[in-house]
This record gives sequence, structure tokens and C-alpha cells, in this order.
Amino acid sequence: MKKFIWTKILFFSSTLVPLNIYALNNSHDLNLPKQQSSVKNQSTEMLKGVVSMPFELPPLPYAMNALEPHVSQKTLEFHYGKHHQTYVTNLNNLTKDTPLAQKKLEEIILESAKDPAKAGLFNNAAQVWNHTFFWHCMKPQGGGLPTDKLADKINQAFGSVDVFKQKFKEAALAQFGSGWAWLVQENGELKITKTANADLPMAHGQKAILTCDVWEHAYYLDYQNRRADFVQVFLDNLVNWEFAASNLD
Ligand code: ZN
Repeated sequence: MKKFIWTKILFFSSTLVPLNIYALNNSHDLNLPKQQSSVKNQSTEMLKGVVSMPFELPPLPYAMNALEPHVSQKTLEFHYGKHHQTYVTNLNNLTKDTPLAQKKLEEIILESAKDPAKAGLFNNAAQVWNHTFFWHCMKPQGGGLPTDKLADKINQAFGSVDVFKQKFKEAALAQFGSGWAWLVQENGELKITKTANADLPMAHGQKAILTCDVWEHAYYLDYQNRRADFVQVFLDNLVNWEFAASNLD
């Protein structure tokens, strides 16, 4: 009985009070808010977006047209405004009036990843996380070279930044169908991986450092079927090395 009362109180308060602790608000689980640069403020700001619903679409860390000419406003209007929003809406529908609505996004991902019967829940929760992470992996006037610790670790793992970019691109192109290319950290070492559909590093005991969305919805309006061109532009003109560096252990 006591538990029931608490459940009701929690549910009620989460419905009415615009200050809750759920989901995307659990910023540290998203690897998002600890960087030192202005990205920190952007991330922190993003994480304040959680209000009356358990899961909300966090604000983009830049304007819809800020990545032009490399990624058009139209692409972001669809990719962020429609696709990302749909994953958030689906996740809310799947968790509504269940104990899951009280859980952190990362908890839902890790629990559902182990259960094939919860594939729909996993796919939507992971895609919410993936996209939120991906927006921060890009910035206006991005690209250039990593510095300091990240540069050292990339050189150590791959030999040079150029080799890293080549291997990352190969992984992105080798992903058959929809998915993601990743730079991850596992047991302290950097690795390049790729995942299909909504799958993501945390489900494999790895920490995400950087990602590029290679679902067609990420690039088709701007690059049609030329995924290689999109990934090259991502690496040369968009990548946010400061954000990637902030994700290192
Ligand atoms: Zn996407």
C-alpha cells in the first residue's frame, strides 16, 4: 500500500511539476554536458528542456540553418523536427502510464537491449539517445583537427588523423542499410565501430565518443545516394572535436 501511494505521488508530481529528473534530464548518462567549451552550455541548456512529459525533444545546439551549406535547413527540419521528434513521441507512447516513464533514458536502453521482446522500446529509446548525441557531434565551422588528449589517443590508435578519417569513412560506408558509424572507447582504447538501425555502443559496453548518422534520412535531401560525400563533409566540415574530446574517460 505504501508503495502504491508513493507511485501515485510520483506520477502525479511528474505530471504537474515542470521540474523533473527523468530521461534526457539525466545528462551525465548521455555523455553530453561535461565539456569545458561553449558546448557545455549548449548541452546543459538542452537538458533543461525536460518539462511536463517524461521525454522531450531537446533543443538543437544550433540554429536549423547553422550547418549550411553542408547540411541544409530542410534536412534538419525533417531529421530533427520530424524523425527525432517521432522517436521521442513513440517513446512517450510506449512508456506512458508505466514505471518506465520514471526511468532514465539510459536505463531503458540498457534494459530493453537485453530483451528481444522489447525491440520497439529499445529502437525508439536508443534513437532518441543517438540523435541527441549526434547533434552535438557537429557544429558550424566544425572539422579541422582534434587537439591535446584526443589527438594523442587518435594518433596512438590509428597512426594519424587522416588514417582515422579514412577508417571511419570505410565503416560508415560498410554499414549496409541504416545505422551509425562510431568512434568509441573500450577499456581505455579508441576503436571505430558501426551499428545497424538503432544499435549503439552502450549496449556493447563501449563509450560513445563521436558518431555519424548514416540513415538515409540524414543525408538524402542534400546528397541523395552519395553517403560517402556526406561522411566526408561530416569529417572535414562539421565534426565537433571539442565535444568528442569531452566524452573521453
Ligand atoms: Zn537520423
